[in-house]
Amino acid sequence: MSENWNIYADWNPWHGCTKISPGCKYCYVYRQDEMYGSDIASSLCRKTANFNLPIKRKRDKSWKIESGRIVFTCFTSDFLLKDADDWRPECWQMMKQRKDLYFFFFTKRIDRFLDCIPDDWGDGYENVIVGCTIENQDRADFRLPIFKSLSIKHKTIIVAPMIDEIDLSAYLDNSIEEVSVGGESGINARPCNYDWILKIREQCISHDIPFRFHQTGAFFIKDGHTYRIHRKYQLSQAHKANIDYKIGEYLVPKKVKFEWTNDVYHDLQ
Ligand code: SF4
Repeated sequence: MSENWNIYADWNPWHGCTKISPGCKYCYVYRQDEMYGSDIASSLCRKTANFNLPIKRKRDKSWKIESGRIVFTCFTSDFLLKDADDWRPECWQMMKQRKDLYFFFFTKRIDRFLDCIPDDWGDGYENVIVGCTIENQDRADFRLPIFKSLSIKHKTIIVAPMIDEIDLSAYLDNSIEEVSVGGESGINARPCNYDWILKIREQCISHDIPFRFHQTGAFFIKDGHTYRIHRKYQLSQAHKANIDYKIGEYLVPKKVKFEWTNDVYHDLQ
């Protein structure tokens, strides 16, 4: 994993989301709003002041988000949320305009994808990576057949928060560029069992799909013991397990092709 955090950027065009799934129970957006004492309900989705961040420029006219960044998109909501339907077309336009960036969003609403894409989507935008999030077998069996049927250039499966054992075998083929697995964080987190993670890893290896163990979660079961893992160690402890398979240097699938030379991005079309 790259230690160079300068290659990443965050873009949250809207904030707030409605819970739709067991994985949403202890949603980090709600937890963070509570922690910061927000007066506005977390379920109320609203545009942020950074709505048009990708096309904002500095005083010297250069882009605020420099060329070549991987942009984590809409991480304080869900990019396919219905409440944001009127705003999303402008976001697609910005993504189209900034072909020099990679936009990476996760969604629990992949069933809305076809209602949300722009007319010129075609086989997908080269610079958009979509992570379909699942948390248990039921949600995997609902979302992944839909996800597999969609035209998207870069697809990843995000198993998080992993709250039960899941068999992904039926959904793994070379259209999936990476599977990334993590436990739940927060004081009420449901425990994640290391055996579940190892089983997903085996499923990925047997289909030759890159696998990433990105975080342990707050309560982690290993060899029959439940460990409480402090937030600041949840990423590093997962990394220490050293069980990733065919993972590249950056927090995107290895198949997303780009080169870094003196912080400048090449290989753009
Ligand atoms: S979809 Fe994501 S952001 Fe929305 S409530 Fe669920 S966990 Fe939170």
